[in-house]
Amino acid sequence: SYRKGGYHAVRVGDPFASGRYIAQRKLGWGQFSTVWLAYDTESSRYVALKIQKSAQQFAQAALHEIEVLCSIYEGDPSNSKFVVRLIDHFKHTGPNGQHLCMVLEFLGDSLLQLIRFNRYKGLELNKVREICKCVLIALDYLHRELGIIHTDLKPENILLFFTIDPAKDPIRSGLLTPILERPEGGTLNGGSTTNVIEKKLKRRARRAVANISGRRDPMGGEAPKPARCLDGIDMRCKVVDFGNACWADKRFADEIQTRQYRAPEVILQSGYSFSVDMWSFACIAFELATGDMMFAPKTGQGFSEDEDHLALTMELLGKMPRKIAVGGARSKDFFDRHGDLKRIRRLKYSPLDRMLVNKYKFSETDAREFVEFLSPLLDFSPEKRPTAQQCLQHPWLNLRSSGGQSNVDAGMNKLKI
Ligand code: ADP
Ligand code: MG
Repeated sequence: SYRKGGYHAVRVGDPFASGRYIAQRKLGWGQFSTVWLAYDTESSRYVALKIQKSAQQFAQAALHEIEVLCSIYEGDPSNSKFVVRLIDHFKHTGPNGQHLCMVLEFLGDSLLQLIRFNRYKGLELNKVREICKCVLIALDYLHRELGIIHTDLKPENILLFFTIDPAKDPIRSGLLTPILERPEGGTLNGGSTTNVIEKKLKRRARRAVANISGRRDPMGGEAPKPARCLDGIDMRCKVVDFGNACWADKRFADEIQTRQYRAPEVILQSGYSFSVDMWSFACIAFELATGDMMFAPKTGQGFSEDEDHLALTMELLGKMPRKIAVGGARSKDFFDRHGDLKRIRRLKYSPLDRMLVNKYKFSETDAREFVEFLSPLLDFSPEKRPTAQQCLQHPWLNLRSSGGQSNVDAGMNKLKI
């Protein structure tokens, strides 16, 4: 993809925007872009530089993303809504064409990396609550104040920013705090003249990232490892990636959302609105608490991925009301006129609360309380799902599990297949 119309190849030390930003290391990439850690010589801070592929359709998408990010910025000048902040944008011309670049505040690892770091054990429920609150504040802001649907909410698109008390944990605060304040007096003129402190800091940061991302974990064939301890880390996160976001009154795509986080009305093509984000949010909360995806559909013999997906939702949540099942543009592909799946006849019902207790070793109380929070969000009828604003009032968010016998401890016995 590093050819005409594609990605822009970056080397450490490359200058951008007439030398204001200096590339440091690659942070990640998506279908449309590569994202680099860069040093902003004007504000003396690290930033994330998202460099879009250059072809016309990618430039178009980037312009749209910039428009969305600008309205997010304008509506929240104090940057308190847990949505990524756009700092700057510009065009950069390279051998593969002209690339739109977005300068974003620099955030940490994604929730996907956090789940991996925690060895797919599920996070302590108090941590899940903290993350849920941030995401709900972000969704309430996007939905109610801006009229924006994210349409691609998933663990990869929610990034952490740690606030660790350095007095309590000096090592980790230095290693994990993603906004690496520059050491006093340090200079940076590209990759070559970095001073010793700078190099040390970088090495420590690299090691930390490798550790927290679990990239050094030996893979496969081993006894399950206990979850890692995340004590003392105040966990906060922000929603990123507005490449697919849309205004509720200006929707472009019928097929939205990443498969596992896709709401049933999108599969059935019955029209969608803000409540598709609430469905994805519930899937993410479940995944954080258990370490497993809530729905991981697969194509099988005689049925499609869509059909498996619909079957999985019904096995967990009960039968879809007939009216909803037959009400979408694609309903006839999956359901007969009674509202039964045509090609998957026998469903194995396993209600959510039983699953949490039996498979994930939740206490009866934890399971009941979590299900009271989650199940309204997973209503087959999109209008019945609570809004982010209503969800923020839910008592579950303010409960406190005692640290001792959490699902994390019990989860140590859980075998992953
Ligand atoms: P795409 O639209 O191509 O999927 P994203 O905006 O999701 O691009 O960014 C791709 C990846 O880059 C993310 O999954 C994340 O790993 C990293 N990333 C994006 N934005 C930031 C940021 N502000 N700070 C740190 N890393 C980021
Ligand atoms: Mg992405």
